Amino acid sequence: MQPESSNPSAVPAPAPATDKQEYLAMVLLVDDQAMVGEAVRRALASEPDIDFHYCSQPDEAVAVAQRTKPTVILQDLVMPGVDGLTLVQRYRDNPATRDIPIIVLSTKEEAATKGAAFAAGANDYLVKLPDSIELIARIRYHSRSYVNQLQRDEAYRALRQSQQQLLETNLELQRLTNSDGLTGLSNRRYFDEYLGAEWRRALREQTELALLMIDVDAFKAYNDTYGHVAGDEVLRRVATVIRDNCARATDLPARFGGEEFAMVLPATSPGGARLLAEKVRRAVQGLAIAHSGSPTLDCVTVSIGGAVLVPQPGTQPGQLVEAADAGLYQAKRNGRNQVTMSPG
Ligand code: GH3
Ligand code: MG
Ligand code: MG
Repeated sequence: MQPESSNPSAVPAPAPATDKQEYLAMVLLVDDQAMVGEAVRRALASEPDIDFHYCSQPDEAVAVAQRTKPTVILQDLVMPGVDGLTLVQRYRDNPATRDIPIIVLSTKEEAATKGAAFAAGANDYLVKLPDSIELIARIRYHSRSYVNQLQRDEAYRALRQSQQQLLETNLELQRLTNSDGLTGLSNRRYFDEYLGAEWRRALREQTELALLMIDVDAFKAYNDTYGHVAGDEVLRRVATVIRDNCARATDLPARFGGEEFAMVLPATSPGGARLLAEKVRRAVQGLAIAHSGSPTLDCVTVSIGGAVLVPQPGTQPGQLVEAADAGLYQAKRNGRNQVTMSPG
């Protein structure tokens, strides 16, 4: 921080911004007569909030406007080479200058000329040379409305952008809320929600709803032999097999908990569910992940219990989970690495 000066002759601090000084008007005058340029420059000289730029070459006018970004253009009508109205049209055709307010300066006062100027896209019309009070008032009026429009456009853009960001954040949050951190499959929370919704739909439509419960065999022994980190990797690879076998958009692969997974299969028959379960069982065995302590083969295997129900009024989705669990229990008892469909 600079120490405050006590010297009375120091440059005074700028006056607090008044309403008038919130924005700066930038005037571009395009006129081939240097005399007009000088007269306008003088008329504006005592206005600290109005910047002035003068262009005497009509051929360069659009490029100069693009570079200096005026908040208002004062445009002469009669110039050598280029017609002022053609220039007005050119500003309007250029995206960078399209919305800049244009005040036409003309020596003529006929209605036809005024009409042509407005038809070409002019916003205002002044007969040369206007008195400075009127000129300044019109410059301020058009500049302010142009700057306001730019600010509104910018605020709208920023609003749209923040809305988009919010939408993306919400989607990501929803994805995180519904998915299991280790495997990326749906978590138990979302499994319950999805099973409930599909149960109600199957009840309404009286269609079959299938569920497979998939449990890794002797996984405690795997962790004990190969470590927890290797165990996590096995869970990820089994999850990938399960995800890859959910062919329909309505099939939901989920991590039910620990080393137990589930597949919700709407509109699937007992035969179809068994076939899919067999495919998953074989695919996991096909991963050939060494597991020396396995009671089945020397590799990681899964046991799968399945159930299919057509929901009846007054029943709960938990009934389907219990039936699939009963199948899983049987598969374990019968020696693991197999599929058992529960009668349901
Ligand atoms: P079974 O063949 O009867 O299914 O025997 P099991 O050993 O697989 O079953 P048990 O329920 O006795 O043990 C499950 C093991 O799974 C114990 C637990 O430490 C392990 N486990 C659960 N969640 C995770 C996990 O996220 N990562 C790892 N590495 N292990 C887990
Ligand atoms: Mg297990
Ligand atoms: Mg288990």
